[in-house]
Amino acid sequence: MRHSFYGGIHPDDGKRLASSSPITPLAAPDQVIIPMSMHIGAACTPTVQKGDTVKVGQIIGRSDAFVSVPVHASVSGTVAAVEPRLHPNGQKVMSVVIDNDRQDTMDESVRSHVEEVEADPKCLLNLIKENGIVGMGGATFPTHVKLSSAIGKADTFIINAAECEPYITSDHRTLLEHPDEVLDGIRYVLRLLQLPKAILAVEGNKQDAIAGLKEKLAGAGDIELQVLRVRYPQGAEKQLIQTVTGRQVPPGGLPADVGCVVMNAFTCWSVNRMVKTGLPAVERVVTVSGPGIAAPTNLLCRVGTPVKELVEAAGGFSGETDKVLMGGPMMGSAIFDLSVPVLRGTNGVLVFLADQNRAKENPTCIRCGRCVEACPMHLQPLYLYAYERKSDVAGLNRLNATDCIECGCCAYSCPGRLQLVQAIRHAKALIKSAAPKK
Ligand code: SF4
Ligand code: SF4
Repeated sequence: MRHSFYGGIHPDDGKRLASSSPITPLAAPDQVIIPMSMHIGAACTPTVQKGDTVKVGQIIGRSDAFVSVPVHASVSGTVAAVEPRLHPNGQKVMSVVIDNDRQDTMDESVRSHVEEVEADPKCLLNLIKENGIVGMGGATFPTHVKLSSAIGKADTFIINAAECEPYITSDHRTLLEHPDEVLDGIRYVLRLLQLPKAILAVEGNKQDAIAGLKEKLAGAGDIELQVLRVRYPQGAEKQLIQTVTGRQVPPGGLPADVGCVVMNAFTCWSVNRMVKTGLPAVERVVTVSGPGIAAPTNLLCRVGTPVKELVEAAGGFSGETDKVLMGGPMMGSAIFDLSVPVLRGTNGVLVFLADQNRAKENPTCIRCGRCVEACPMHLQPLYLYAYERKSDVAGLNRLNATDCIECGCCAYSCPGRLQLVQAIRHAKALIKSAAPKK
C-alpha cells in the first residue's frame, strides 16, 4: 500500500466475539417503532394515521426536501400510534408505531426494478431516493444526494468495507455470506456513475471474506480489491480516500472535490436488494456484541425493532452492565432505554460491563501530547478542551474545532482520561449557537 493518513490508533478490535457468528434473521417483533428521522437531512412528515392498515415497503412518511428520504413500513399491520417516541439520540421524535399482523403483506410498489435499471441506469438515482437508501455504515447521509454530486465529477468510486470500529462485524459477515449481492450492488452504482472501475477497500482482519472476494473477482476488470492494514479510523471517509488514493479532502470540503465518491459495503448490498426485489431499506444486519453480551451475534433485523429484542436474542447481559451503545465503541452513542428502535444506520449494539469503565474522577491533562499525535485531522484536542471549558468560541474557531470527526482517537490515547470527545462535541455546539443566524 502506498498511502497512509496521519495519526490514528490500534485498539483491540474485539471482533473475534462475533466474527464467526453467521447472520441470523431475527423474528419481526409484535410492534415496530419507526422514527420519521433516521437520516441526515429533513425529517419526514407521517403520511398515515392511527388505525390505518399498512403493508411492508409502503411509504409511511416523506418530506419534499432534496436532502431527505421517505420512511417505509418494515412490517404489515395496523398503525397503533403516530406520536413522538424515544429515539436512540435521547430525544422524543415523531414516529409511526405499527402492530405487526404477522402476514408480511407486501406493498404493491415492491417489485423488481432490474429491467428498468438495465434499460436506463440513470433511473437508479430516483429509486435509491424513493426506497430510503442512506449511508448504512452509520453516517445515514442520503445516498442519492451523495451520488448526484458525484455523477460526471468523480473519477474514483470507493466502497468502504474497512469496518474499522472495534467489535462491529456486520459488513464483514455480509461480505463473507453475500459477496455476490454486494458486488452486484457495486456494479449497479458503477453504471450510474458511468465509471469503468470501483475500488473495494477491506481491512486485513477479514481474511475469510477477502479470500472469497478474491475468488469472485479473479479476472474481473471492473472491481479492484484493496486490502488495507488495520488502523482506526480508516473507515472515516476522508481517511479512507487518503489511504486508497493519496488525495486529501480539504478542510470543509467533500470527497467530490478530489474526484471521489465513497459508499459503504452494506449500502451496496441494500441497493442490489432494492433493484432485484423492490424492497426498500426496511431491514439491516446488526452486530450485537461486547463483553457484556452473553452470546455475541449478527442479526438481520427489521428497522423499528426495539433494541431489547436484539439483546434477548443474543443471550442477554453477561454481568453488571455499565453502558449500552448503538454503534461502535469509538463513535457510537450511549442509549439509556432498551425500548428504542433499530434505525437504518444501526450497525451495532454493544454492551460493556461496569469493570470496563475507564472514566476517572478529576481528569487532568499532563501535557503529554498523545492526543495531538493520535488526531487524524491534525487538531490539538488538549487546547480544544481548554477553550471549551472557558467557552472561548474565538479560540475554538482558530483551532478549527468544527473539523473534528469525533473519532475518539484523542480520548482513547489520553492517559489523563479527559472526556475530550464530549468536550469537543459541546465546543461545536457553542460555535453553532454563536454563529450569525441566516
Ligand atoms: S475526536 Fe476529533 S479531536 Fe479527537 S482525535 Fe478525533 S478528530 Fe481529532
Ligand atoms: S493526551 Fe490527554 S493528558 Fe496528554 S496532552 Fe492530550 S489531553 Fe493532555
